Amino acid sequence: MAFQLDTDIRFLKGVGERRGILYHKLGIYTIEDLLRHYPRRYIDLSHIYDIKEAPVGTVCTIRARVDFKGGEQRIRKGLSLFKVQASDETGGITLTFFNAKYTVEALKVGSEYLFHGRIGGSFLHKEISVPSVYPLDSTQFSPVYPLTAGLTTKMISANVRQALSLAGSLPEPLPLAVLKACKLPEYDFSVRNIHFPQSEEAAAAARRRLIFEELFFLSLALGSVRGRKEAVNVTPMQPLSMVPFYSSLPFEPTNAQRNAIDDTIKDMCSGKPMNRLIQGDVGSGKTLVAAAAAYFMIKNGGQASMMAPTEILAAQHYNTMQKLLAPLGVRVGLLTGSMTPAAKRNFKKQLLAGEVDLCIGTHALLTGDVEFKNLRLVITDEQHRFGVNQRTALAQKGQNCHVLVMSATPIPRTLALIIYGDLDLSVIDELPPGRQPIATYLIGSSKRARAMNFIKKHLDQGLQAYIVCPLVEQGETDLGLKPAADYAEHLANTDFKGYNIGLLHGKMRPAEKERVMAEFKAGQIQLLVSTTVVEVGVDVPNAVIMLVEDADHFGLSQLHQLRGRVGRGSIPSHCILISDSQNPETTARLKALCDTTDGFKIAEYDLKLRGPGDFFGSRQHGLPEMKIADLASDMDVLQAAQKAATQLLEQNPHLDGTDMELTRKMVAKLLNAVGERPN
Ligand code: ADP
Ligand code: MG
Repeated sequence: MAFQLDTDIRFLKGVGERRGILYHKLGIYTIEDLLRHYPRRYIDLSHIYDIKEAPVGTVCTIRARVDFKGGEQRIRKGLSLFKVQASDETGGITLTFFNAKYTVEALKVGSEYLFHGRIGGSFLHKEISVPSVYPLDSTQFSPVYPLTAGLTTKMISANVRQALSLAGSLPEPLPLAVLKACKLPEYDFSVRNIHFPQSEEAAAAARRRLIFEELFFLSLALGSVRGRKEAVNVTPMQPLSMVPFYSSLPFEPTNAQRNAIDDTIKDMCSGKPMNRLIQGDVGSGKTLVAAAAAYFMIKNGGQASMMAPTEILAAQHYNTMQKLLAPLGVRVGLLTGSMTPAAKRNFKKQLLAGEVDLCIGTHALLTGDVEFKNLRLVITDEQHRFGVNQRTALAQKGQNCHVLVMSATPIPRTLALIIYGDLDLSVIDELPPGRQPIATYLIGSSKRARAMNFIKKHLDQGLQAYIVCPLVEQGETDLGLKPAADYAEHLANTDFKGYNIGLLHGKMRPAEKERVMAEFKAGQIQLLVSTTVVEVGVDVPNAVIMLVEDADHFGLSQLHQLRGRVGRGSIPSHCILISDSQNPETTARLKALCDTTDGFKIAEYDLKLRGPGDFFGSRQHGLPEMKIADLASDMDVLQAAQKAATQLLEQNPHLDGTDMELTRKMVAKLLNAVGERPN
């Protein structure tokens, strides 16, 4: 029978329309998808306890004969119970099953089975509530799969077993040279052993190989995109004096800022399109680098555009750039979604005519009818908030644009390599002088009143503060809005009667948000109650306290970003985290934030705890989902995979050759997932 790995999952015995739909929910459409649905863990059936020795309170496997099956006992509607007595040479045990008529019916009195579960009862009378049942000839390590409602591990493993028996020898997607050089087991061995391992060692080797493979193809995919970008030539920019720019600044740039600016200018003069990431902790002054790059480009006769993830941030950048660059003859413009159609039309006309040199905006810039006369430089702020596609979409409005992206999210180096594998990196590792360290405290809500007094004292001195509440911004329900809105109103009527309180959240109309932000900047609003919309980039040096309610609802990096909203001037600043969480892990996490202001350390800690998906917000990094690799903890495999991918691309940049067919297919699939095309 012709059997292909891309055969529809419904081809398997027992998988009809209904189960097919359940499999689709897990992203499984073909036999290959199923084989790549790896177990989360295994149930160890290799250590069998005597009933007498099995310790109460621990999860064990026993081998026992069924002696007696009790009848069905109805506890209440929808809940029935079966008790089964079983024994081995050392003693007896009671097994309790709920709603498991078929399981119990299948047990034969007098036959032996493996039962797995937590030993309950007492030393004298042991029991297992809801044991898993395995036949005696089970593999020693029984897989446990990620599930969806309606699919059980038993169904999945039966389907996997059938697929494996039909499939014959599975074709090897990794180039054989890589396999050899990195001493990895073959695909066929690895897939069989990840599902039904012969031994613990075989499972570990299989897992490592599959992690390697996943990271290898990811590196290869990103590497092949990079190769394509480097191939283009552009007219080099001409060096010109930056003295007018530097001498008009209200402050002395830091060395790190100067170096980053030099990097970008060198890139733009190189004859290849710049592709650079400026990575710097919150408050390190990345905007200045953007301003310098734009200035350099515009004085060279090109247009520049800068995209920010929120209207608030775009407006702020517009004001900054206006202040820095307008006196130097640069015409700065702002385009956002909330402008009137007439204003937009007019602005677009100017842009196309080349009457705007630096165009700042939100993703409104990406709409089709936004056209430039001569766009040569594209800057993206808070890059991790945009997908790979959005980042490239703006650049496509010019020809072979220079690309500069900025991110305040400090990412561990290895992860940066994966995500930004196609970017050069400048790190701003120095804060402007005179910054006061931000003191951070973790308190329970019993001390909230004191915290509010503390804030009040600062407001009375003419300073400002933020209070942030967590809020689910997804979904259509506006129920989630109530906390922040209600809280603002509550504060205005109680603790902060007579003070000017503002409210800011993601569901407000853009113009409204801008007005609130402008009033806060101008000092008219003293206390801003907000959701995480203030998280990125907002810069109000007079705001010196950040209080976060329910701090345990946020990721560490996110809290670090929030904290970065204060401490931006020379006045000592404070960050107060309120949490009543009793979970020791949560408390440890929040305490870590109190102990350090090093964004890099925090990011690594966060990454370890939460994994990259959560770390960036779901899938915001634009990477395809990893099935088995953990970008945070599989660092050594990642490095090996990356090295192998780079070497292969050097020798065979287009992955030519018939033996590379499967490799090419894997790369194409991945690039497809992130919206890129292969070489
Ligand atoms: P971020 O890197 O977080 O985007 P910004 O560019 O918003 O930081 O800069 C933060 C604040 O620091 C701004 O108010 C900016 O004017 C100020 N700033 C930037 N560079 C310097 C410097 N070299 N000396 C003093 N202040 C600076
Ligand atoms: Mg910024």
